[in-house]
Amino acid sequence: MERYWNKDIECMPREEMKKLQDERLAAQVKRVYENVKYYRDKMDEKGVKPEDIKSTEDLHKLPFLSKADLRETYPYGMLAKPLSDCVRIHSTSGTTGKRVVAFYTQNDVDMWAECCARAITAAGGTNEDVVHVAYGYGLFTGGMGLHDGSHKVGCLTLPMSSGNTDRQIQFMRDLHSTILCCTPSYAAYIGETVREMGLTPDDLDLKAGIFGAEPWTEEMRRSIEQSLGIKAFDIYGLTESSGPGVAFECCEQSGMHINEDNFIPEIIDPDTGEVLPEGEVGELVFTSITKEAFPLLRYRTRDLCVLSRKKCSCGRTLIKMAKPMGRSDDMLIIRGVNVFPSQIETVLIEQGYSPNYLIEVDRVNNTDTLDINVEMNPDQLSDKIKDMQDQEHRLAEAMKLMLGINPKVHLVSPKSITRSEGKAVRVIDKRKLIDFPKK
Ligand code: ADP
Ligand code: ZN
Repeated sequence: MERYWNKDIECMPREEMKKLQDERLAAQVKRVYENVKYYRDKMDEKGVKPEDIKSTEDLHKLPFLSKADLRETYPYGMLAKPLSDCVRIHSTSGTTGKRVVAFYTQNDVDMWAECCARAITAAGGTNEDVVHVAYGYGLFTGGMGLHDGSHKVGCLTLPMSSGNTDRQIQFMRDLHSTILCCTPSYAAYIGETVREMGLTPDDLDLKAGIFGAEPWTEEMRRSIEQSLGIKAFDIYGLTESSGPGVAFECCEQSGMHINEDNFIPEIIDPDTGEVLPEGEVGELVFTSITKEAFPLLRYRTRDLCVLSRKKCSCGRTLIKMAKPMGRSDDMLIIRGVNVFPSQIETVLIEQGYSPNYLIEVDRVNNTDTLDINVEMNPDQLSDKIKDMQDQEHRLAEAMKLMLGINPKVHLVSPKSITRSEGKAVRVIDKRKLIDFPKK
């Protein structure tokens, strides 16, 4: 039977949730207008007053915020509470540029832990579980977020942080970890190491994994589930809106429920800023309606995604977001064609390769080039050059079908691509490196 952490909220009838959102939104906008000069100026510039925002239907009237705004106001310009009311600071991983810092009051930390507790419960966690947190601890939100959520549920919490993979597995066995929390790329690495140590999933007590902080494909999910003998759940979040737990997956494993009592989602056209109807792909935008210290309104995540209100078999009424397909700035435009690293990952796993790959994009003689370095599994190695060329050719053909352009595929030896203990780096786009004119 499905268990909930907070059934009243997670299964709340839509009209009631809408009412709750309307009230919280109106109060939040007023608070932000009074306390955050930067946003007040933006609203004034647009001619919007707090009284104009009475319900979620009015949301579109508010100005957007983006990472650029957060960099401009770094570090204190978005604070809506005095520092004396704040108890914690976290920072983005800096995947796409200068880091952004976010502040939390005790209520903010509690709300975040509540969101993660919902995620852990949806993955089957109870106070009988041993939660093994192998997300990085520190400024990154992954470790602390799941840690606090695990405490809230009453699970026995192992604050492993990332790295030292052999020790992770030893503790997993000695202390009978049942739920693993880390990035999907690190979960894949742990799975690989388990096999190399001559162990099987039966040697572990794991039953579930809660994986997020980076995009991962369905193929990757199946591969991790097999290698660790678990059910793998997705979790989504970003530092700007607290951290992991903004949305979480239930037993249906088809999209993540958004904690709508705290975050109102919208999907917009990234070029025009226009709000798109449900079911269309666009950029995900979040409005935090309960956060006190760092309450971002209409924050543009740059994550590309689809929302759905289709009834979920788990009984939750919270709206669902599909797995983000990547960030709008992760999308590579190669010879005019849109390419996502996740498409490449799908083909690789389907064709029996490991999810260890590195994409290199460059421009030679004014033409974009796409090189995909793919690591072989030991059993794919051959000492006949012809065999290797055939394998590369087959893989390149499959890639061409998926992407619509011709890549160059290079099979590289097992273990030659660096493993990730946090967020994986899959792309090197040399076109972006600044070319200084030679004197
Ligand atoms: P940074 O933006 O520097 O990576 P964060 O650590 O706050 O900082 O990362 C948040 C971002 O991570 C999200 O905007 C999204 O792009 C990505 N992300 C988080 N969870 C997921 C997930 N489950 N699937 C895909 N992408 C995710
Ligand atoms: Zn569900």
